[in-house]
Amino acid sequence: MKAFEYAAPRTEAEILQVLSAEPGATEVLAGGTDLVGLMKKMLVTPDRVVNIMDVPSLKTIDELPDGSVSIGAAVTLDLILDHPYLDVYPAVKQAIRGINSMQLQCQGTLGGEVCQRPRCWFYRNGLGLLSESASEGANQYHAILGNTGPAKFVNSSRIAPALIALEAQLRVIGPGEDEERLIPVSEFFRTPRHDGQREHVLQPQQLVTHVILPPIAGRTCATYEVRDGEGPDYPLAAAAVAMRLDGYGIVHAAKVVLGQVAPTPWNSPEAERLLIGHPVDPRRAEQAGLAAVRMASPLSENTYKVQLAKVAVKRAILLAAGHETGGF
Ligand SMILES: Cc1cc2nc3c(=O)[nH]c(=O)nc-3n(C[C@H](O)[C@H](O)[C@H](O)COP(=O)(O)OP(=O)(O)OC[C@H]3O[C@@H](n4cnc5c(N)ncnc54)[C@H](O)[C@@H]3O)c2cc1C
Repeated sequence: MKAFEYAAPRTEAEILQVLSAEPGATEVLAGGTDLVGLMKKMLVTPDRVVNIMDVPSLKTIDELPDGSVSIGAAVTLDLILDHPYLDVYPAVKQAIRGINSMQLQCQGTLGGEVCQRPRCWFYRNGLGLLSESASEGANQYHAILGNTGPAKFVNSSRIAPALIALEAQLRVIGPGEDEERLIPVSEFFRTPRHDGQREHVLQPQQLVTHVILPPIAGRTCATYEVRDGEGPDYPLAAAAVAMRLDGYGIVHAAKVVLGQVAPTPWNSPEAERLLIGHPVDPRRAEQAGLAAVRMASPLSENTYKVQLAKVAVKRAILLAAGHETGGF
């Protein structure tokens, strides 16, 4: 590991003072479950590490006057699982439960989960995020959607699809001392086009401070992950759905977002269109699943993910509507 300076600010303003404007010169340290491994492998080599875990304002879960719930970026995932304010957002809790490791849930934070770097093994072995090797083979865990450019990795966050389906926003501070803005989670991720471009829109000297979930307002929601085991590993495909149904069970609004299938969480307006105006039943959910993967362009070794993604969408819709998910 490269030697680095360590900063432990106590306020949001102090964080901005110690973050550098130079790309890569400073890194934010939250739970460290991702960052420390990257630093040990010298994939990330900051001159200064800024620990945000001593900043009280980043560690609270609050209900806001309009009924939104604000979760500090440094809140650990186990606290989210236990918190009653978040019971109405089962899609978020289901995604966290999927991590299936008490250690990671107690140490990992919400901000770190959303901002974690891709698990792409070419990237993790020093070949960069846009390695051409991913087109050639060993791409069974790579993207099946949004993969026509140089980026073949999948976005790793398992909570982000739920946050997007629920229309959550991120409070971001910096780079200036008094600057702060709200960014919809749906606009936070991007597909890098060249080396050195990050997979989200944060600039150096910017930081996510809070995730703001709007009031549930009668919506139902669910996350469904297809995994190859019960251990702490990433899903092969996932989907999060939020819907508003009327008293007759007709869908009036729907958000369908896939995870682990593209370099960003992948919104499917095609699936949403199929749901709106209809009651949810297994056939309709299946059609929506098919629509969500119709544009898939699998790589040489991941055609199997198309079926898994279709199933994830179908089952997330059924779960959100309170149905049994059924078999394949
Ligand atoms: C062995 C192992 C297995 C894992 N398995 C899983 C798994 O099954 N599922 C899963 O989802 N995850 C898994 N993880 C990944 C990850 O550890 C967790 O998702 C965790 O929530 C990350 O949070 P953290 O606080 O530890 O992040 P950190 O490691 O502290 O940070 C991660 C990244 O986000 C940046 N960052 C952190 N907070 C902020 C912020 N507020 N604003 C801007 N940038 C920020 C950091 O600079 C860093 O680049 C695994 C990790 C390990 C080591």
